[in-house]
Amino acid sequence: MDKTVAGIAAASIEAMLAREKARFIAGNPISQRLGDEAKHHFPDGVPLHWMTDWGTPFPLFVREAQGASLTDADGHRYRDFCLGDTGAMFGHSPGPILTVLAEQGGHGLTYMLPTEDAPAVGRLLAERFGLPFWQVAATATDANRFALRWARAITGRPKILVFNGCYHGTVDETFVRLRDGEPIHRPGLLGQFADLTQGASVVEFNDLPALEAALAARDVACVITEPALTNIGMVLPDPGFIEGVQAACRATGTLLLIDETHTISTGPGGWTRAHGLSPDFFVVGKAIAGGVPCAVWGFTAAIEAAMKAARARTGPGHSGMGTTLSANALALRALRANLEQVMTPAAYDHMLAMSGRLAAGIRRVIAERGLPWHVSAVGARAEFVCGPVPPRNGTEAAAAMHGDLEAAIHLFLMNRGVLIAPFHNMTLTCPATTTEDVDHLVACVAAACDALIAGA
Ligand code: PMP
Repeated sequence: MDKTVAGIAAASIEAMLAREKARFIAGNPISQRLGDEAKHHFPDGVPLHWMTDWGTPFPLFVREAQGASLTDADGHRYRDFCLGDTGAMFGHSPGPILTVLAEQGGHGLTYMLPTEDAPAVGRLLAERFGLPFWQVAATATDANRFALRWARAITGRPKILVFNGCYHGTVDETFVRLRDGEPIHRPGLLGQFADLTQGASVVEFNDLPALEAALAARDVACVITEPALTNIGMVLPDPGFIEGVQAACRATGTLLLIDETHTISTGPGGWTRAHGLSPDFFVVGKAIAGGVPCAVWGFTAAIEAAMKAARARTGPGHSGMGTTLSANALALRALRANLEQVMTPAAYDHMLAMSGRLAAGIRRVIAERGLPWHVSAVGARAEFVCGPVPPRNGTEAAAAMHGDLEAAIHLFLMNRGVLIAPFHNMTLTCPATTTEDVDHLVACVAAACDALIAGA
């Protein structure tokens, strides 16, 4: 029998990939030329190597973007459901951020001093997310790194715990995976100088007994997790699982860091607020300042007091945390404008309605064709997975990823004016997304499925 992948003939996937690659090459001569030129000084022609991960024959170069729409160098317009992989979750260049850029532009961008916006920003963060104390970093990676360092300093414990399949940015200590029940280095790591398996425990998501066993030795400073894993496809928590994680942490004196960099799609206060969690640390980055590089990490009053005590124990010197451009004047102002004017409950109402329409539309496409696929969603973030049932952990999620099938669909969509996240089948809706955008995406996914099924 011919080989099939997630209900689709492998030969059909191969044919679609070849066809869509040819179509992409024919349709994007200017991107191709820019890529060739850029190769003289950027490896593979890109200023960040992730930009080659889109599965295109050469990178797509962008001219501009606005709201939910992006235009490439060849002049094609895309309905953008990738939204910078969350950095532009509230749309490209929202009006209030544009005003900030214009206003702050003439007043200096970075001073390494706090600005007059600081008290208001602190208040806004505390009101919205429920944690009283905050720090600002340049990226979510940094925010996670700093919070984990503090967690070790406060508890005096050496290890962290992550769930298999997690991603929290390029944070060294989180680059572990489970294989046959044992932690290993995440495949592909370059330049690794320390044995990360010594500093991190790793267990499967949705496995509370495994977590409790791993915390029993009381050598774990902090559990870091997203409320739903969103970087290995999407893995939703079983009802009560995250609450169970929180209880297990409390019972063993382990700190809990909830990373809402992606799950902030849930609603204005993230999954944490929506589900009444009370973590010790809370991180959100990417979109939090409307696309201006910025991340925030919050913590409880008890953590703030423990930080002071740890500082006193350690004495003066370099903390190992901070970067020069963090909390700069522009970032702080954009953060304030985003919290006050962009990331509003009304914006979320629209985003969630659009995402609901999108998820329902793709579910319909899957059901009508009897494909063994499904759709998962966390608020404004929805994902179709080419597997029959929602995965419960990282291992199951990895098994439901089919590189060539996903690449073929992504290219098919790109060639028809739709961008979704390159790494898996993730879509985001923003305040500027329209029902027409959503319906076009759904129609294109249906057309891709039909072509794959027909093998034509
Ligand atoms: N946390 C999560 C959950 C993420 O998905 C990411 C990035 N995808 C990060 C942190 C890191 O964000 P950044 O790359 O902006 O540092």
